[in-house]
Amino acid sequence: VTRFVTYSDGGDPRLGVVKDGLVVDVQRASGGALPRDLPSLIGAGEAVWEAAGALSADAVPSPGIEDVARLLPPLMPRKNVFAVGRNYRAHIAEGAAARDEEAELPRVPVFFTKPPTSVIGHGDEIPWQPEVTTRLDWEAELAVVIGRGGRDIPPDEALRHVFGYTAANDVSARDLQRSHGQWFKGKGLDGSCPLGPVVVTGDELGDPGQLGIWCRVNGVVKQEASTAQMIFSIDTIIAALSAGLTLEPGDVILTGTPEGVGFARTPPEFLGPGDVVEVEISQIGTLRNHVALGTSGR
Ligand code: ZN
Repeated sequence: VTRFVTYSDGGDPRLGVVKDGLVVDVQRASGGALPRDLPSLIGAGEAVWEAAGALSADAVPSPGIEDVARLLPPLMPRKNVFAVGRNYRAHIAEGAAARDEEAELPRVPVFFTKPPTSVIGHGDEIPWQPEVTTRLDWEAELAVVIGRGGRDIPPDEALRHVFGYTAANDVSARDLQRSHGQWFKGKGLDGSCPLGPVVVTGDELGDPGQLGIWCRVNGVVKQEASTAQMIFSIDTIIAALSAGLTLEPGDVILTGTPEGVGFARTPPEFLGPGDVVEVEISQIGTLRNHVALGTSGR
């Protein structure tokens, strides 16, 4: 299984491939032949992906993944992260019930975006700024990383455009999401898009529509579902998004959250300083972040 991480050993960000729990520096282990960041590697094409996956931990001193100084977002998207809202029936139902409305299923995927400044990595702080929002909520999601760009991609070719998958938390400020009408403000705050800890390549992952997905807050399970419960599968999402819109290598797409978010619980629950939020996806791992008073995020 090929798993990529971006990490810091004190200096500039490094791209690593994880081998038997060891982080192999892609650029150093290849003698400078391979890129040192994931967007460049993805853009270089499949032969380069395979060359990076074949690197050996014997080539350079390779620390254990627990020993690297800091994991960073596995990639910094070069443009807004795409996201799908309302993609699990039970989540749509809980949202409608919380608003005392009739649940209505979408006929096509509902898209919104989160800016690159919202992206943080595993272990980074989710900033909590009470003068901005007091209703910060979690959303565990499977994230798709595009490998081969394209537009008007048909569903039966869509998965061949995928580089890999990672875990995401679509952190949402419910008060802003509601008061601003459109979702961008409530879902675009700094630090509101934790990604990681690794990107697992698609060829190794098998069926992305059969993965377990969980969210835990302070160790308590809040969301527990399967990606099989998505209304729009990943191939449908890619086909719909790429219709008349060019997808590029390294683009990231969040695929929606299952039921169990905070605002729809009785009584409603929101994140506050000190809370630890974990998103776990089978075969990918656990993305862990804590909420902290302040504005930094990274
Ligand atoms: Zn979401």
